[in-house]
Amino acid sequence: MVHAIRIHQPGGPEVMKWESVEVPAPGPGQVRLKQHAVGVNYIDVYQRSGLYKLPLPFVAGSEGAGEVVAVGPGVSDFKVGDRGAYAGALGGYAEERVMPADRLVKLPDNIDYKTGAAMMLQGMTVRYLLRETYKVGKGTAMLLHAAAGGIGRIACQWARHLGATIIGTVSTPQKAALAKEHGCTHVINYNTEDFVKRTRELTNGQGVDVVYDAVGKDTYPGSLDCLKPLGLWVSFGNASGAISNFDLLLLSAKGSLYATRPTLGTYVAKRADLLANAGELFDVVGKGIVKINVNHTYPLKDAAQAHRDLEARKTTGSIVLVP
Ligand code: NDP
Repeated sequence: MVHAIRIHQPGGPEVMKWESVEVPAPGPGQVRLKQHAVGVNYIDVYQRSGLYKLPLPFVAGSEGAGEVVAVGPGVSDFKVGDRGAYAGALGGYAEERVMPADRLVKLPDNIDYKTGAAMMLQGMTVRYLLRETYKVGKGTAMLLHAAAGGIGRIACQWARHLGATIIGTVSTPQKAALAKEHGCTHVINYNTEDFVKRTRELTNGQGVDVVYDAVGKDTYPGSLDCLKPLGLWVSFGNASGAISNFDLLLLSAKGSLYATRPTLGTYVAKRADLLANAGELFDVVGKGIVKINVNHTYPLKDAAQAHRDLEARKTTGSIVLVP
């Protein structure tokens, strides 16, 4: 038996229960991982609250890093003792777990477990957002909401490296300073300033090429007004609540805009794409282009407190649970 955080019904952080669970021997195509660190992401909140519905009960979390302690039949990519990391495989908040081997990637020796657990979901998301959903490069003007968050800080560093002008939004002066430190060209406090007006001023009335918006309800439809004609609105999250009144006609009225609602799962569904994405992420982290800020560490059994702090907007950078 090992310990895990299990959810029997959707609700607030209190529904996360520290329980003993049985971990079976790995089946065909599976490995058993002894986890050294587990990542916390906003999607864990959506799954816990029931915004994203999952069959009950389930072990929360979908990101971690650890050591392979057993391999199932047919697994050739991993052996006992290998270091691995993953994102997007439900069942993360556990001391040990069994998972599909094709979702695990080898963690390079120069990246420690905590950093590995903190970077996989946010880092691979930033990689597909900046390199695939829209090809950010020299001359790109982009608006990035929640620029001091986990995704935000990685995106600022990576987009700066790619040569973009980054306009970031944040809710406090402290977060504004952090976003700037991580490469934001201009920072807007959207609690005290009108982010649409300010974005248009900063771009001489032109608007930006692309908006990365994971705040959701509170920044819709304002984000659309920040775009150039034919610009791309990337709605990839719902930190303030889901958008329920999306109006397709607004895209034509505001300049033949494009809109997409992407998710990491689609971009790394094929193993080759997962390896390419993770490989590029390991490269930028290994070279120090992107620094992963593990700013908050909690014991695994205190996952509920990590959720409280994340939802209260108290965190910056990444959050890790340690078994
Ligand atoms: P963050 O660390 O960015 O935390 C969320 C941030 O959103 C807060 O810090 C806060 O920043 C901002 N925010 C704005 N309004 C609210 C609100 N009402 N309640 C809480 N927070 C608010 O989280 P992550 O880096 O883990 O994730 C960022 C977003 O990216 C999430 O929406 C997540 O779902 C999404 N995501 C999407 C993926 C995809 O593939 N589609 C994959 C991974 C993440 P501030 O105080 O500065 O406003």
